[in-house]
Amino acid sequence: MKFHILTLFPEMIEQGLNNSIIKRAAEAGHLTINAVNIRDFTLDKHNKVDDYPYGGGAGMLMQAQPVYDACRSLTEGKEKKPRVIFMTPQGRTFHQEMAKEFAGEEELIFLCGHYEGIDERVLEEIVTDEVSIGDYVLTGGELPAMVMIDTIARLIPGVLNNQDSAEEESFSGNLLEYPQYTRPEVWMDKRVPEVLLSGHHANIAKWRREQSEERTRVKRPDMYEKYLEEKKRK
Ligand code: SAM
Repeated sequence: MKFHILTLFPEMIEQGLNNSIIKRAAEAGHLTINAVNIRDFTLDKHNKVDDYPYGGGAGMLMQAQPVYDACRSLTEGKEKKPRVIFMTPQGRTFHQEMAKEFAGEEELIFLCGHYEGIDERVLEEIVTDEVSIGDYVLTGGELPAMVMIDTIARLIPGVLNNQDSAEEESFSGNLLEYPQYTRPEVWMDKRVPEVLLSGHHANIAKWRREQSEERTRVKRPDMYEKYLEEKKRK
């Protein structure tokens, strides 16, 4: 899968995503990360990409032309135009189901705003999806884009060593994941639950399911409601 990121700070993306699992996935050819510097597309002789907002108000706005040309450099001549996701606190809040949907695409373009945002006219022209990572305001769209890319990348076949881990994790089937333990068997007088040492797969699966249900009921009653509704429908 190809991830393109339109940004004024490509080094943030390159440093942030060139580690651990995502780095290995890129080296293995499961994905590519292409950070495109919007500033490279400015026609301004001083390399400016922002200006004051019409009507006054605080801060600067990114101008339409460099953003448009940077995006066109990725889409021009392509028969299937990739979706362009604008990172914005005004968008739909990102969640696991949305990540699954995006993971089905071959190519995605992320547009990162900075300063006070971007001239509305270019957004109307190029954006297909508006996504927020939560109800708070960050200085730029780079961290939100990285959050999305990291989440989506884990769902691409081959990226995780064991694909089961993505399927069994929190949020799949409206349940949170069960508690997990590793060696040693006893730590600070706390024992690993006996059933996990039994080697009895059916009992382990049953215990995990019960733990998942109980955790979700306590920690995320909203999700637990959905889980129960879904269960009734099946
Ligand atoms: N003036 C904008 C508003 O009130 O909607 C906020 C601009 S914010 C300071 C600068 C950029 O950070 C935004 O254009 C967006 O790309 C990004 N950003 C900030 N908070 C975000 C969030 N919660 N989710 C996604 N992107 C965010």
